[in-house]
Amino acid sequence: MKKIIVAIDGYSSCGKSTIAKQLAAYSGYRYIDTGAMYRAVAYYAMQHNLTDDTQVIDALKSIHIDFERQSDGTQHTMLNGEDIERPIRTLEVGNRASQVSQIRQVREFLVEQQQAMGANKGIVMDGRDIGTVVFPQAELKLFLTASPEVRAQRRYKELQEKNGGKATISYEEVLHDVNDRDYRDTHRAESPLRQAEDAVVVDNSDLTEEGQLRLVCVLFNERMATL
Ligand code: C5P
Repeated sequence: MKKIIVAIDGYSSCGKSTIAKQLAAYSGYRYIDTGAMYRAVAYYAMQHNLTDDTQVIDALKSIHIDFERQSDGTQHTMLNGEDIERPIRTLEVGNRASQVSQIRQVREFLVEQQQAMGANKGIVMDGRDIGTVVFPQAELKLFLTASPEVRAQRRYKELQEKNGGKATISYEEVLHDVNDRDYRDTHRAESPLRQAEDAVVVDNSDLTEEGQLRLVCVLFNERMATL
């Protein structure tokens, strides 16, 4: 059976990884979270106190990123053999990731690895530039979106849950962070977030998770039927 590349792009916290993982499970494809790769570079920079861009660029040769499948089926991000899946999910690492992702050499370093991962197709990859830069030839491109308020609410709930129900940050701060990150992602010089012309827009502000999955599976099957 023919395999395709599914590229999923969109703003931060609009549920890209949830739908990407679900579609990967549905199709039997491999899932790659490219945000985790930018987070891994950011985490390395934070751990080694690398403050300026030249230090980060210089460190790339010492950075090896992998994904390791766990017995429960989830994938963990590995940095030089160390499992960093939990520590890279904080707001601080997310913000640093959005900074290091503006460095051209960082993008080139990661895009090359992402393209190699998709060489045999059968992949669902999510990020900001997958349908525009990494795989402009992807057979199915989805552009996910939701209002900043809906995204901030989801992110706030997620942060609360991770912290045993207690909020360490207010909803307003999370919303501010979402707006900041959107601005940086769409205004940077290197591969800004934008919708590919041939992408299907999925606004999930008012969609349930199940409704979204049904819709995306229909889009996937329709695309497969045209091959
Ligand atoms: O998706 P996630 O929030 O984990 O991504 C972290 C940051 O990495 C984003 O804010 C974005 O700036 C950057 N990123 C990127 N290109 C990608 C994936 C993520 O610039 N393909």
